[in-house]
Amino acid sequence: MVICSRCKSNEAITRIAYAKMNLCIECFKKFYVNKLKKTIEEYHMINGEDIVAVAVSGGKDSVALLHALRNAYPKLEVKAIHINLGIEGYSKHSQEKVEELAKQLDVELHIVDIRKEIGISIDDFKKTKFKGKMCSVCGTVKRHIMDEAAMNIGANTLATGHNMDDFMTFMAKNFITRQWNQLVKLKPVVPPLMSGMPKKIRPLIKFPAEENMLYCYYTKIPVNEVECPHSKGAKTLEVMKILNELFKDEPNMKYQVLGSFLNLISLLEDAMKEEGVIPCRKCGFPSKDGLCSYCKRIELVKSISK
Ligand code: SF4
Ligand code: ZN
Repeated sequence: MVICSRCKSNEAITRIAYAKMNLCIECFKKFYVNKLKKTIEEYHMINGEDIVAVAVSGGKDSVALLHALRNAYPKLEVKAIHINLGIEGYSKHSQEKVEELAKQLDVELHIVDIRKEIGISIDDFKKTKFKGKMCSVCGTVKRHIMDEAAMNIGANTLATGHNMDDFMTFMAKNFITRQWNQLVKLKPVVPPLMSGMPKKIRPLIKFPAEENMLYCYYTKIPVNEVECPHSKGAKTLEVMKILNELFKDEPNMKYQVLGSFLNLISLLEDAMKEEGVIPCRKCGFPSKDGLCSYCKRIELVKSISK
Protein backbone atom coordinates (compact mmCIF):
# COMPACT_ATOMS: atom_id res chain seq x y z
CA MET A 1 0.00 0.00 0.00
CA VAL A 2 1.31 3.44 -0.92
CA ILE A 3 0.86 5.94 1.92
CA CYS A 4 -0.21 9.56 1.38
CA SER A 5 2.82 11.89 1.38
CA ARG A 6 0.81 14.62 3.17
CA CYS A 7 -1.10 13.00 6.06
CA LYS A 8 1.21 9.96 6.26
CA SER A 9 -1.69 7.76 7.35
CA ASN A 10 -4.23 7.09 4.57
CA GLU A 11 -3.76 5.07 1.43
CA ALA A 12 -2.75 7.21 -1.55
CA ILE A 13 -5.16 7.13 -4.51
CA THR A 14 -3.16 9.24 -6.94
CA ARG A 15 0.35 10.33 -7.75
CA ILE A 16 0.92 13.98 -8.60
CA ALA A 17 4.05 13.38 -10.64
CA TYR A 18 5.18 17.01 -11.12
CA ALA A 19 4.92 17.63 -7.35
CA LYS A 20 6.46 14.21 -6.56
CA MET A 21 3.59 13.39 -4.15
CA ASN A 22 1.21 10.51 -3.56
CA LEU A 23 -2.09 11.71 -2.12
CA CYS A 24 -5.10 10.18 -0.38
CA ILE A 25 -8.66 11.30 -1.24
CA GLU A 26 -8.93 14.02 1.42
CA CYS A 27 -5.42 15.40 0.83
CA PHE A 28 -5.99 15.42 -2.93
CA LYS A 29 -9.18 17.49 -2.53
CA LYS A 30 -7.33 19.98 -0.29
CA PHE A 31 -4.41 20.07 -2.72
CA TYR A 32 -6.79 20.83 -5.61
CA VAL A 33 -8.62 23.69 -3.84
CA ASN A 34 -5.31 25.14 -2.61
CA LYS A 35 -3.81 24.99 -6.08
CA LEU A 36 -6.86 26.85 -7.42
CA LYS A 37 -6.42 29.56 -4.79
CA LYS A 38 -2.71 29.88 -5.55
CA THR A 39 -3.37 30.18 -9.30
CA ILE A 40 -6.05 32.84 -8.74
CA GLU A 41 -3.70 34.80 -6.50
CA GLU A 42 -0.66 34.42 -8.75
CA TYR A 43 -2.47 36.05 -11.67
CA HIS A 44 -4.58 38.48 -9.56
CA MET A 45 -7.74 37.05 -11.09
CA ILE A 46 -10.25 38.09 -8.44
CA ASN A 47 -10.58 40.84 -5.87
CA GLY A 48 -12.97 40.89 -2.93
CA GLU A 49 -15.61 43.08 -4.64
CA ASP A 50 -15.86 41.06 -7.83
CA ILE A 51 -19.06 39.33 -8.82
CA VAL A 52 -17.92 36.19 -10.59
CA ALA A 53 -20.01 34.37 -13.16
CA VAL A 54 -18.81 30.83 -13.85
CA ALA A 55 -19.59 29.40 -17.28
CA VAL A 56 -20.76 25.87 -16.54
CA SER A 57 -21.26 23.50 -19.45
CA GLY A 58 -21.78 20.45 -17.26
CA GLY A 59 -18.45 18.86 -18.30
CA LYS A 60 -15.84 17.86 -15.72
CA ASP A 61 -13.71 21.03 -15.97
CA SER A 62 -16.43 23.61 -15.44
CA VAL A 63 -18.25 21.70 -12.69
CA ALA A 64 -14.95 21.13 -10.85
CA LEU A 65 -14.21 24.86 -11.18
CA LEU A 66 -17.56 25.93 -9.73
CA HIS A 67 -17.33 23.45 -6.85
CA ALA A 68 -13.71 24.26 -5.94
CA LEU A 69 -14.23 28.03 -6.28
CA ARG A 70 -17.14 27.79 -3.84
CA ASN A 71 -14.90 25.90 -1.42
CA ALA A 72 -11.91 28.18 -1.86
CA TYR A 73 -13.84 31.45 -1.43
CA PRO A 74 -17.08 30.84 0.50
CA LYS A 75 -17.76 34.60 0.82
CA LEU A 76 -17.22 35.47 -2.85
CA GLU A 77 -20.34 36.35 -4.88
CA VAL A 78 -20.47 33.51 -7.40
CA LYS A 79 -23.20 32.89 -9.98
CA ALA A 80 -23.42 30.18 -12.62
CA ILE A 81 -24.35 30.55 -16.28
CA HIS A 82 -25.34 27.61 -18.46
CA ILE A 83 -26.10 27.76 -22.17
CA ASN A 84 -28.48 25.17 -23.55
CA LEU A 85 -27.08 24.82 -27.08
CA GLY A 86 -29.99 22.75 -28.39
CA ILE A 87 -27.72 19.84 -29.36
CA GLU A 88 -29.78 16.69 -29.79
CA GLY A 89 -28.92 13.95 -27.30
CA TYR A 90 -26.52 16.17 -25.35
CA SER A 91 -27.84 19.56 -24.23
CA LYS A 92 -30.79 18.32 -22.17
CA HIS A 93 -28.53 16.04 -20.14
CA SER A 94 -25.96 18.84 -19.63
CA GLN A 95 -28.61 21.23 -18.32
CA GLU A 96 -29.95 18.64 -15.86
CA LYS A 97 -26.47 18.04 -14.40
CA VAL A 98 -25.78 21.77 -14.04
CA GLU A 99 -29.15 22.32 -12.35
CA GLU A 100 -28.36 19.50 -9.91
CA LEU A 101 -24.94 20.96 -9.08
CA ALA A 102 -26.21 24.54 -8.64
CA LYS A 103 -28.84 23.25 -6.24
CA GLN A 104 -26.28 21.23 -4.31
CA LEU A 105 -23.96 24.24 -3.97
CA ASP A 106 -26.77 26.76 -3.48
CA VAL A 107 -25.48 28.89 -6.36
CA GLU A 108 -27.74 31.18 -8.40
CA LEU A 109 -28.05 29.64 -11.88
CA HIS A 110 -28.89 31.49 -15.11
CA ILE A 111 -29.81 29.37 -18.10
CA VAL A 112 -29.79 30.71 -21.64
CA ASP A 113 -31.66 28.39 -24.01
CA ILE A 114 -30.59 29.51 -27.46
CA ARG A 115 -33.59 27.91 -29.17
CA LYS A 116 -35.94 30.01 -27.05
CA GLU A 117 -33.85 33.19 -26.95
CA ILE A 118 -32.36 33.35 -30.44
CA GLY A 119 -34.49 30.88 -32.34
CA ILE A 120 -31.61 28.66 -33.49
CA SER A 121 -29.65 25.68 -32.21
CA ILE A 122 -26.02 24.68 -32.75
CA ASP A 123 -27.30 21.68 -34.74
CA ASP A 124 -28.76 24.16 -37.30
CA PHE A 125 -25.20 25.07 -38.36
CA LYS A 126 -24.95 21.61 -39.93
CA LYS A 127 -26.89 23.14 -42.83
CA THR A 128 -24.35 25.92 -43.33
CA LYS A 129 -20.76 26.27 -44.57
CA PHE A 130 -19.71 25.72 -40.94
CA LYS A 131 -20.79 22.06 -41.01
CA GLY A 132 -17.15 20.93 -40.87
CA LYS A 133 -16.29 23.43 -38.14
CA MET A 134 -19.05 22.89 -35.63
CA CYS A 135 -16.84 23.46 -32.56
CA SER A 136 -15.46 26.68 -33.95
CA VAL A 137 -18.90 28.18 -34.64
CA CYS A 138 -20.19 26.84 -31.32
CA GLY A 139 -17.24 28.58 -29.59
CA THR A 140 -18.11 31.93 -31.21
CA VAL A 141 -21.77 31.62 -30.18
CA LYS A 142 -20.90 30.53 -26.63
CA ARG A 143 -18.35 33.32 -26.07
CA HIS A 144 -20.85 35.97 -27.16
CA ILE A 145 -23.73 34.62 -25.09
CA MET A 146 -21.56 34.15 -22.03
CA ASP A 147 -20.37 37.76 -22.16
CA GLU A 148 -23.92 38.99 -22.63
CA ALA A 149 -25.31 36.78 -19.84
CA ALA A 150 -22.56 37.85 -17.42
CA MET A 151 -23.38 41.50 -18.14
CA ASN A 152 -27.11 40.86 -17.67
CA ILE A 153 -26.62 39.38 -14.22
CA GLY A 154 -24.25 42.13 -13.10
CA ALA A 155 -21.05 40.05 -13.06
CA ASN A 156 -17.82 41.91 -13.82
CA THR A 157 -15.77 38.71 -14.06
CA LEU A 158 -16.40 35.65 -16.19
CA ALA A 159 -14.59 32.44 -15.21
CA THR A 160 -14.27 29.60 -17.69
CA GLY A 161 -13.07 26.05 -17.15
CA HIS A 162 -10.38 25.87 -19.87
CA ASN A 163 -7.87 23.37 -18.53
CA MET A 164 -4.13 23.11 -19.11
CA ASP A 165 -4.54 20.64 -21.98
CA ASP A 166 -7.01 22.99 -23.72
CA PHE A 167 -4.49 25.82 -23.39
CA MET A 168 -1.58 23.77 -24.70
CA THR A 169 -3.70 22.59 -27.62
CA PHE A 170 -4.93 26.07 -28.60
CA MET A 171 -1.44 27.47 -28.20
CA ALA A 172 0.15 24.77 -30.38
CA LYS A 173 -2.61 25.09 -33.00
CA ASN A 174 -2.40 28.89 -33.22
CA PHE A 175 1.39 28.80 -33.16
CA ILE A 176 1.61 26.29 -36.03
CA THR A 177 -0.99 28.17 -38.11
CA ARG A 178 0.59 31.55 -37.17
CA GLN A 179 -2.65 32.94 -35.79
CA TRP A 180 -0.84 35.53 -33.65
CA ASN A 181 -4.04 37.48 -32.99
CA GLN A 182 -5.63 34.39 -31.48
CA LEU A 183 -2.46 33.38 -29.65
CA VAL A 184 -2.26 36.64 -27.69
CA LYS A 185 -5.77 36.05 -26.36
CA LEU A 186 -4.63 32.88 -24.58
CA LYS A 187 -3.89 34.43 -21.24
CA PRO A 188 -4.93 33.58 -17.69
CA VAL A 189 -6.68 36.97 -17.44
CA VAL A 190 -8.14 38.90 -20.37
CA PRO A 191 -9.24 42.45 -19.56
CA PRO A 192 -12.63 43.65 -20.92
CA LEU A 193 -12.50 44.44 -24.66
CA MET A 194 -15.00 47.25 -24.22
CA SER A 195 -16.27 49.07 -21.19
CA GLY A 196 -19.11 47.25 -19.47
CA MET A 197 -17.92 43.84 -20.62
CA PRO A 198 -16.61 41.36 -18.04
CA LYS A 199 -12.93 40.53 -17.63
CA LYS A 200 -12.27 36.88 -18.38
CA ILE A 201 -10.36 34.59 -16.06
CA ARG A 202 -9.13 31.03 -16.62
CA PRO A 203 -8.41 29.63 -13.14
CA LEU A 204 -7.77 26.08 -14.40
CA ILE A 205 -4.86 27.09 -16.65
CA LYS A 206 -2.48 24.93 -14.59
CA PHE A 207 -4.84 21.97 -14.14
CA PRO A 208 -4.38 18.96 -16.41
CA ALA A 209 -7.67 17.32 -17.46
CA GLU A 210 -7.03 14.24 -15.28
CA GLU A 211 -6.84 16.35 -12.11
CA ASN A 212 -10.26 17.89 -12.81
CA MET A 213 -11.66 14.45 -13.51
CA LEU A 214 -10.29 13.09 -10.23
CA TYR A 215 -11.68 16.06 -8.31
CA CYS A 216 -15.17 15.41 -9.76
CA TYR A 217 -14.90 11.74 -9.01
CA TYR A 218 -13.82 12.08 -5.40
CA THR A 219 -16.18 14.95 -4.55
CA LYS A 220 -19.00 12.98 -6.25
CA ILE A 221 -20.34 16.06 -8.03
CA PRO A 222 -22.81 15.75 -10.91
CA VAL A 223 -21.00 15.68 -14.27
CA ASN A 224 -22.32 15.27 -17.79
CA GLU A 225 -20.56 12.21 -19.12
CA VAL A 226 -22.42 12.17 -22.43
CA GLU A 227 -20.15 13.21 -25.29
CA CYS A 228 -21.26 15.96 -27.64
CA PRO A 229 -22.00 14.39 -31.06
CA HIS A 230 -20.04 17.19 -32.77
CA SER A 231 -16.81 16.49 -30.85
CA LYS A 232 -15.96 13.42 -32.96
CA GLY A 233 -13.05 14.10 -35.27
CA ALA A 234 -12.54 17.67 -33.95
CA LYS A 235 -9.03 18.84 -34.93
CA THR A 236 -8.27 20.11 -31.42
CA LEU A 237 -8.76 16.59 -30.05
CA GLU A 238 -6.19 15.25 -32.49
CA VAL A 239 -3.65 17.94 -31.48
CA MET A 240 -4.39 17.17 -27.82
CA LYS A 241 -3.67 13.46 -28.34
CA ILE A 242 -0.31 14.24 -29.96
CA LEU A 243 0.67 16.58 -27.11
CA ASN A 244 -0.34 14.08 -24.44
CA GLU A 245 1.77 11.44 -26.14
CA LEU A 246 4.68 13.88 -26.26
CA PHE A 247 4.55 14.69 -22.53
CA LYS A 248 3.54 11.22 -21.37
CA ASP A 249 6.82 10.42 -19.60
CA GLU A 250 7.74 14.00 -18.66
CA PRO A 251 4.81 15.59 -16.79
CA ASN A 252 7.00 18.48 -15.61
CA MET A 253 7.77 19.48 -19.15
CA LYS A 254 4.10 20.38 -19.74
CA TYR A 255 4.44 23.11 -17.09
CA GLN A 256 7.73 24.33 -18.54
CA VAL A 257 6.24 24.57 -22.03
CA LEU A 258 3.14 26.34 -20.69
CA GLY A 259 5.40 28.86 -18.89
CA SER A 260 7.42 29.48 -22.07
CA PHE A 261 4.24 29.96 -24.10
CA LEU A 262 2.90 32.49 -21.59
CA ASN A 263 6.19 34.41 -21.75
CA LEU A 264 6.07 34.34 -25.52
CA ILE A 265 2.50 35.64 -25.50
CA SER A 266 3.40 38.65 -23.37
CA LEU A 267 6.34 39.45 -25.68
CA LEU A 268 4.10 39.07 -28.73
CA GLU A 269 1.48 41.26 -27.16
CA ASP A 270 3.97 44.04 -26.58
CA ALA A 271 5.16 43.75 -30.16
CA MET A 272 1.69 43.77 -31.70
CA LYS A 273 -0.34 46.92 -31.82
CA GLU A 274 -3.79 46.50 -30.33
CA GLU A 275 -6.15 45.87 -33.23
CA GLY A 276 -8.77 48.59 -33.54
CA VAL A 277 -12.25 47.38 -32.64
CA ILE A 278 -15.54 49.10 -33.38
CA PRO A 279 -18.95 48.29 -31.95
CA CYS A 280 -21.07 45.82 -33.93
CA ARG A 281 -24.05 47.64 -35.49
CA LYS A 282 -26.40 44.85 -34.36
CA CYS A 283 -25.31 43.94 -30.84
CA GLY A 284 -22.77 46.58 -29.81
CA PHE A 285 -20.04 44.01 -29.07
CA PRO A 286 -16.51 44.48 -30.45
CA SER A 287 -16.06 43.87 -34.17
CA LYS A 288 -13.42 44.55 -36.83
CA ASP A 289 -15.78 45.82 -39.50
CA GLY A 290 -19.06 46.84 -37.87
CA LEU A 291 -20.63 43.36 -37.75
CA CYS A 292 -19.20 40.95 -35.18
CA SER A 293 -18.44 37.29 -35.94
CA TYR A 294 -21.35 36.17 -33.76
CA CYS A 295 -23.93 38.31 -35.60
CA LYS A 296 -22.52 37.20 -38.98
CA ARG A 297 -23.03 33.55 -38.08
CA ILE A 298 -26.51 34.04 -36.60
CA GLU A 299 -27.60 35.97 -39.73
CA LEU A 300 -26.29 33.16 -41.91
CA VAL A 301 -27.94 30.31 -40.03
CA LYS A 302 -31.25 32.20 -39.84
CA SER A 303 -31.21 32.95 -43.57
CA ILE A 304 -30.74 29.24 -44.33
CA SER A 305 -33.38 28.06 -41.83
CA LYS A 306 -36.06 30.37 -43.36
FE1 SF4 B 1 -19.84 22.92 -28.93
FE2 SF4 B 1 -17.94 21.35 -30.04
FE3 SF4 B 1 -18.24 21.44 -27.40
FE4 SF4 B 1 -20.07 20.26 -28.90
S1 SF4 B 1 -17.92 19.60 -28.65
S2 SF4 B 1 -20.45 21.67 -27.21
S3 SF4 B 1 -20.06 21.58 -30.70
S4 SF4 B 1 -17.61 23.14 -28.72
ZN1 ZN C 1 -22.77 41.62 -33.17
